[in-house]
Amino acid sequence: MIRPVPGPAFLGGCAVSTWLDTASPADPVGALLIGHVPLRRRGESPAAVETALLGMADAMALRPAAEPLTGIGARLLVHGAVTALDYGHPVHALRLPSPGPIWRDHVVRGGPVCVTVGLDPLPPGAGPDAVDAYLHRTVATGRAYRGTTALRLHPGAAPLSPPARGADLDDVSPAPVSCEGCGTGHGVAETYLHANSGPGWEFPLCGPCAASPPADVLRGLQEHVEWGTGARGET
Ligand SMILES: [Zn+2]
Repeated sequence: MIRPVPGPAFLGGCAVSTWLDTASPADPVGALLIGHVPLRRRGESPAAVETALLGMADAMALRPAAEPLTGIGARLLVHGAVTALDYGHPVHALRLPSPGPIWRDHVVRGGPVCVTVGLDPLPPGAGPDAVDAYLHRTVATGRAYRGTTALRLHPGAAPLSPPARGADLDDVSPAPVSCEGCGTGHGVAETYLHANSGPGWEFPLCGPCAASPPADVLRGLQEHVEWGTGARGET
């Protein structure tokens, strides 16, 4: 079965965590975990989400986590402040939200990074304990795929290159997103909406929808808040 590699619209629903595994202090290993947030976006079914995640795993030649770790080539791109993963899409790279200076330093020095794609829903911004539990569970149940990667060197590349064109994997420009409220691609920005009952959430919204969030966006916000509260109760 050939599964397509998902594009930027799908990446917008992915949760990404990075940390440094120092279980062996002399040989630290960078960790990079990719999953999909629990929210179902319009037209996204759990089966479609799983197929897209497996498409990413296929494109990077990840293996089931129960098997010995294998190398998947140098896939990490570091340009100035931007860190991204070439996840096998012909044009787009997955921009890592906040890898942190220690993780980036590890990568820039050529340290290995273990990439894991998990098929179970993963909360964005999950804490270390929640991520640890997630990894143990998905590995034990055969719901995780892994491989080892490292920095891809760009001889001669400028520290902050302009967005690349065509099928250049240097393209680490932010993925184009559409407004969650009305679907427009113009003037969309990540907008924090504050919930009445707890922490809020970020949504890609255009100006008018940010000023007056439509009902289904507010419903999504409520779902996120309820879900986030439940997740905290588990840990
Ligand atoms: Zn809008």
